[in-house]
Formats: sequence, C-alpha cells, structure tokens
Amino acid sequence: MSTALITGITGQDGAYLAALLLEKGYRVVGLARRSASADRVSERLRWLGVLDRVELVDGDLLDLSSLIRIMNDVKPDEVYNLGAQSFVAASWQQPLLTGQATGIGAANVLEAVRLVRPSARFYQASSSEMYGLIQEKVQSERTPFYPRSPYAVAKLYAHWMTVNYRESFGLHASSGILFNHESPLRGIEFVTRKVTDGVARIKLGLASQLQLGNLEATRDWGHARDYVRAMWLMLQQDVADDYVVATGRTTSIRELCRIAFSHAGLNYEDHVVSSQSLMRPAEVDVLLGDPGKAREKLGWEASTGLEDMIAEMVEADLARHRSRQG
Ligand code: NDP
Ligand code: GDP
Repeated sequence: MSTALITGITGQDGAYLAALLLEKGYRVVGLARRSASADRVSERLRWLGVLDRVELVDGDLLDLSSLIRIMNDVKPDEVYNLGAQSFVAASWQQPLLTGQATGIGAANVLEAVRLVRPSARFYQASSSEMYGLIQEKVQSERTPFYPRSPYAVAKLYAHWMTVNYRESFGLHASSGILFNHESPLRGIEFVTRKVTDGVARIKLGLASQLQLGNLEATRDWGHARDYVRAMWLMLQQDVADDYVVATGRTTSIRELCRIAFSHAGLNYEDHVVSSQSLMRPAEVDVLLGDPGKAREKLGWEASTGLEDMIAEMVEADLARHRSRQG
C-alpha cells in the first residue's frame, strides 16, 4: 500500500485529494497544525465522509523540525504540499506570514523530503496568480510570470524552488500551476463561495444585499474534484514536470453573479453592490489557462462545467442555512 502525506489536508483541496487517494487504496496521512478549534478545522474531511479514514499528524509548515520528524515517522511515497496562506486579499494584510507559510513553507517541505525521504515524489500547489499582470492572452507553461500580490510572489518562490530541487538534487518534484478551482468546500472568503453563500442567505430571507469588490475581473474556474485528479496524475508520471491545469474558459465576476442568482430564481442586479472598500491594491484582471499539455501528457480534462459547479455550490449553501434554521 502506498502512503501519501498531504500538507493542507484541512483545506478544500486537501479534503478532495484525501478522498481521491483513499478511493485508490492509499494510506493517507495529513499534516494539521495545532488548533484550539480542532473539531471545526476537520469539517471539510467530515463533510466528505473521510475524516475517520485519514491519519492526522501534528506539525506546521513553519517548523522544519516537525516536518523532518513526520517524514521519518510516516515514510511517505508521495508528498502533496497544499498548505499555504492561500487568500490573495489577506496577503496584503499579512505579507510576511504569507511569505513564510506559502513560500518558505514549501522550501521546508522540500528540504525535509531531500534530507529524509528523497525517493518520495513531491507535488507543489502552484498558482495561476503567478501570471498576475498577464504577459500572454492565454497562459501556458511557457508564459512569463508577473506576480501582483505578496501571495503570488511567495508562490513564485515556491514554484522555482520546486524546479530547482528537481534540477539540482534529482527529486521527483512537480509543480501544478492550477487556475482557480472551487467547490462547496471552498473558503467562504473567496468570491465564488461568497456569492453562492450570499445567494442562499438572500433566498432564505437572511440578507437582502451582497457587497463585492471588482465585478469586471475574470477567472478560469474549474471544480476542485477535477483538479486534485490532475495532482495525482502528475505524480504517476515517470518524469517530474510542471503543468497548467485550467478549463480554457474565462468568466467575469458579474457573469458568475448572474449564473448563481438566476439558479435561485433571483436577479443579481437587485442585490449585488460593488464596494470600493473591497477593491484590491493591485488587481489581476484576467486569467485564462491553456490546459493543452495536461490533456496530452496526463490525459486530464476538466469534467464539470461552471454552471453545474455553481448550481452544486448554491444548493449546498441553501442546505447548510436551512439546517441551521431548522
Ligand atoms: P485552503 O486555504 O482551503 O487550505 C489551505 C491549507 O493550508 C489549510 O489546510 C491550512 O490549515 C493549511 N495551512 C496554512 N498555513 C499552514 C501552516 N503554517 N502549516 C500547516 N498548514 C498550514 O486552500 P485550497 O485547498 O483552496 O488550496 C490548496 C493549495 O493550492 C494552496 O496552497 C493554495 O494556495 C493553492 N492553490 C489554490 C487554488 C484554488 O483555486 N483553490 C489555485 C491555485 C493554487 P488550517 O485549516 O489550519 O488553516
Ligand atoms: P483569487 O483569484 O485567488 O484572488 O480568488 P478570489 O476568489 O479571492 O478573487 C477572484 C476575483 O474576484 C478577484 O479579481 C477579486 O478582486 C474579485 N472579487 C470581487 N469581489 C470580491 C469579493 O468580495 N471577495 C473576493 N474574494 N474576491 C472578489
């Protein structure tokens, strides 16, 4: 039986990846940091019905000694580094913490792998945010990067460390440049989930308005369930490499609102307010990925369309609020 170690297992992707790997017969071990609210932190794993089947070990990306101990104890065959301060807006409030967790944290995991478990295959959760001020209309593995937030700068460092550890030490280290991916388990602060939660509240009479920032930015949104499959596929290749994972379709926040509100029989124009206070110091206006390499080399394709995903998210948020009411 193969063993996988997942950092960030309590996050959206960690939960979906754990479910996928369990289904494939892996022993799944997750690094979780100490929390006074441990029951709440495991909520996503519980929602997917896998909490009882994963092993959680205590550690932190900022604590190299904990990572070395875990590599020694767990002896993973595959290491997925999904842990990060992952919210762009928060990275302007906590730029140094973001640099530590999102950037140095990845280097710490690479070091622990190199020193203790160099045979393990490594996956780094890189991000389309690294393209930032886009240098090409459609972004591929060959597009130059231009990060536009402390988060994106930290991710770029982690990406290049992954490439360098592969080239310098021969680690089987791959970087997945994933475009935005969402699900009912997406953090409530991200725009898709904020919108679907807002739709549910408005539909149930719990709110009447939804305040957002820039409605004109566009993103290439896919479903997290599809994207964790691409992570796994990357580690099954003989040779480690970097891959863009995207749908190839970009949609504005405004259109996202239209889709989500109309799913609940509402008109977004009656409820959505664009507030200056939610604009970012620097914006990433457009992201649109070319998943051609992942399709050719990994046989990967997005299987869930945006409309279906948003419908699933609205339904899940309606169910959550109804159960709280009832
Ligand atoms: P989440 O924000 O849902 O999850 C982040 C995870 O990182 C949580 O489990 C969190 O733990 C953990 N974490 C944060 N800081 C530390 C730390 N110091 N030590 C250990 N663990 C820590 O992110 P997603 O699941 O959405 O994303 C997974 C990864 O993919 C992230 O690295 C993200 O930046 C990246 N990414 C995501 C994209 C997306 O669209 N979702 C797109 C491209 C890249 P806790 O629960 O304790 O807070
Ligand atoms: P990101 O691409 O990782 O930053 O993912 P987000 O979901 O946080 O943001 C996607 C886009 O939505 C960005 O261009 C934001 O500026 C825009 N946006 C507009 N209003 C909001 C809002 O209220 N919250 C968030 N999170 N994003 C918003």
